Amino acid sequence: MSNDTIVALATAPGESALAIARLSGPDALAIASRCFRGRVSPEASASHRILFGSFLGADGAVLDTVLASIFRAPRSYTGEDVVEFSCHGGASIPAAILDELMRLGARAARPGEFTERAFRNGKLDLAQAESVAALIRARSERSIRAARSALGGALSRRIAAIDAELVSLLVEVEARIDFPGDIDEAMDVAALSARCASLAALVRDWVRRSPGTRRLQEGLRAALVGRPNVGKSSLLNALVGYERAIVTEHPGTTRDTVEETIAVNGVELRLIDTAGIRGSRDPMERAGVERARQAVDACDLAVLVLDRSEGLHPDDGTLASHLPASPLILAWNKADLPRRRASEAVRPGGRTDIVAEVETVAIRPGGAEPLLDAIRDAIPGILGTNAGDEVATTSARQEGHLAEALGALERAEAGLRACATYDLVAVDLADARRALGEIVGRGVDDAVVAAIFSRFCIGK
Ligand code: GDP
Repeated sequence: MSNDTIVALATAPGESALAIARLSGPDALAIASRCFRGRVSPEASASHRILFGSFLGADGAVLDTVLASIFRAPRSYTGEDVVEFSCHGGASIPAAILDELMRLGARAARPGEFTERAFRNGKLDLAQAESVAALIRARSERSIRAARSALGGALSRRIAAIDAELVSLLVEVEARIDFPGDIDEAMDVAALSARCASLAALVRDWVRRSPGTRRLQEGLRAALVGRPNVGKSSLLNALVGYERAIVTEHPGTTRDTVEETIAVNGVELRLIDTAGIRGSRDPMERAGVERARQAVDACDLAVLVLDRSEGLHPDDGTLASHLPASPLILAWNKADLPRRRASEAVRPGGRTDIVAEVETVAIRPGGAEPLLDAIRDAIPGILGTNAGDEVATTSARQEGHLAEALGALERAEAGLRACATYDLVAVDLADARRALGEIVGRGVDDAVVAAIFSRFCIGK
């Protein structure tokens, strides 16, 4: 357990009827007892009780009338002593209560620190902790269901089941390392490799479904890329249906990335307008270029916007060749203007993953519809089949480890089929176990844990 006591508002700041200040750590009850006056003191209270009373400020005057919920270790969210004060909301009272709790010795919690403590105290495994973040982030009913099922332990149980089968395989393999003479080799290896193959198939199927499920939760990211002035901002505006991006007639003025979210067939689609990926001397603009590049690297779908009136420009090809390997849609914009050159059948940047090619008029009502249709058609291919599997992974980190486990299982399977030495097969099986273990937090190093929780919100 940690030796300090942390505090944070568990509710969002701003005007509200109520706010909750959450205190967790070894001194939680003592600190609460110094600022709370009621019939029962928090220190004297049993666990899972709600106390009614006054919260006193530093000068002993009543700051607010509050309810104090008492949770004694280990039966609390964090596994430590926890006191939650429900007070009146708004800008001043919760802040004053927080100040007073800190004056009495509590420390302001880092983002995710309550959940991190829950993890360190064994209340949750890492996969469950990550589902807490997914649950908070979840915006659609489907994603809430997936996160809740992972939080309930469905993911962890599935990992445990696979791990149990892995252990039993490993025991068999190790027995053959230790007692090589005792076994009928040919028949035996066939049976072992069949078991290994069916385990690999199970994980492979899971790996195949995972990205789609996670994307469904997080929303798909589509980047609008193109040279300055081809009409990216106008297209984004048209797609979103209202003005948000700044449209100007001078190249290079959309300095940052602009992001808007629309719902396409019930799937959340985050549209990212980039500042045009190209070099620039202006530091402001350079920062925008860098952000644009990162946004594009992480996208699930890229739309390369081209100016049909000008035809293909050498920079279009350069841009296309720098795009990551995600499905690409070509949008020939400004289709209302006469062409300066006849259009040629082109594959900018030699791309072979162009899923659609459309003509748009961003500035005309309905002129972006062909692009929206193309995006709509591309979504099933991006999500893959069976997206929405109940036992969903809830982070890219989990997917990475799942893929690692699969790789190790496939190596073990190949090793068994090729009658490699059992020692090598054992190493691969152990690797698969390690990778699976990391999903639930076994053997994960502290820096990784810290990085995971730093993405949480404060007070969770
Ligand atoms: P961006 O730099 O790629 O984001 O381009 P903008 O969206 O800022 O558009 C640049 C200029 O092209 C603006 O003056 C737009 O009004 C104009 N524009 C955008 N789309 C079209 C179109 O489909 N047809 C015509 N004629 N003009 C357009």
